[in-house]
Amino acid sequence: MKQPSFKFQSPTGMKDILPEEQVYFDAIEEVARKYASFYSFLRIDTPILEDYQLFAKGTGEATDIVEKQMYVLKTKGDEILALRPEFTPSLARSYFENGMIAWPHPVKLYTMGPVFRYEKPQAGRYRQFHQLNFETFGSKRPITDIEVIWLFYNILKDLKIKDLAVQINSIGDSQCRPYYKKVLVRYLKSQERNLCPTCKKRLKTNPLRVLDCKEEKCQKVISEAPQILDHLCDECKDHFKRVLEYLDDLEIPYILNPYLVRGLDYYTKTVFEIVSQSGPDGRQNALVGGGRYDDLLKLIGKKDIPACGGAMGVERVIALMKESGFKIQQATPQIFIAQLGDKAKTQTLKLMEDLRKMNILTESQLSKDSLTNQLKIANKLNVKFAVIIGEEEVLSKSVIIRDMSNGTQISASFDKAAEKIKQKIKGQKKS
Ligand code: AMP
Repeated sequence: MKQPSFKFQSPTGMKDILPEEQVYFDAIEEVARKYASFYSFLRIDTPILEDYQLFAKGTGEATDIVEKQMYVLKTKGDEILALRPEFTPSLARSYFENGMIAWPHPVKLYTMGPVFRYEKPQAGRYRQFHQLNFETFGSKRPITDIEVIWLFYNILKDLKIKDLAVQINSIGDSQCRPYYKKVLVRYLKSQERNLCPTCKKRLKTNPLRVLDCKEEKCQKVISEAPQILDHLCDECKDHFKRVLEYLDDLEIPYILNPYLVRGLDYYTKTVFEIVSQSGPDGRQNALVGGGRYDDLLKLIGKKDIPACGGAMGVERVIALMKESGFKIQQATPQIFIAQLGDKAKTQTLKLMEDLRKMNILTESQLSKDSLTNQLKIANKLNVKFAVIIGEEEVLSKSVIIRDMSNGTQISASFDKAAEKIKQKIKGQKKS
């Protein structure tokens, strides 16, 4: 019987990160690490899989993420686990599980890694993508919201992303949002026939989400909807006012967007997105999303801990870095070692290790045998010096050091070779 033929491919919406792409991930991670250390955020990594309930409760059952986009699996031990669709509930869980409640507050954490959402793939939207998160636990001050925005804003600027703007809104808290929800639902019900089918459903499950529907049909209804900013309680109003004042002080460009609600249940007060306005229309241009989530930690750990954070979409940032011609700094080798014969190959490895310890970037091609070919490669690499280890050098326990700019050569004993090369490089830098 003929076996069915399988075409092995990566799953839809998930891609390999090839070497040429890795350099962008490295660049982002390096900038993130620099900022994190300067602003005292500590690195944390959590498991990719979590108990399904963590997201059902934390992210919220009525959100698109939990309802439609989560990868859920049942293990052989009958556990129900989910591939994390975002980081925040995982970090909140870890905060309690690891006794961070006893640490000096605010506890400031950052993480970077893959997250998974079963969405329809399109440009800038994948099923496996990467996020960089900064989260703070234990401060309810507006300056904490700003610290998170400031960090992301500056990271994006360092990565040469242009035309940045912060979209910002307040969605109130448990004091004022319930009343606003009622006002909104009353209005939306009066307009129900003009809503798209999804929003008709949202009206019952998650009415605030109607406000960020992109359907043309709903846009007209939304433009006349009551706005949360007119219904904030005094505390939320003051908080938001301070946040906007700080943005002004720091000269961070922002757009007050009363329809920005974000998809997740747990947000309170500030919600924001950082967008780049330089991309063509219609592109997925939100680079960072986040906000304050003062009620999430109570839900997970039964303790009233205010919190605030955000997540940056790494792939979307990389796409813009490529567009803006971000220069990846790649180190070029200073030395090439050409070798001939088996013994010379092991000598090469030994010498490479000596040079590595001295931080001298060295290249060799151990699978090649022709000295001429290897020296051609050295020429192409534009190294200052080539080291040659042939059969004679193996016998006399020495190496030849050739100055590639003028072809002059000297011989050095193998034991002193690394030191001699170091001196040569130093001397050359001086001259
Ligand atoms: P969210 O967790 O939905 O607030 O998303 C935070 C950021 O992650 C967004 O601003 C995007 O940059 C990025 N992002 C969200 N969903 C996707 C996706 N499916 N593919 C690629 N990036 C995404």
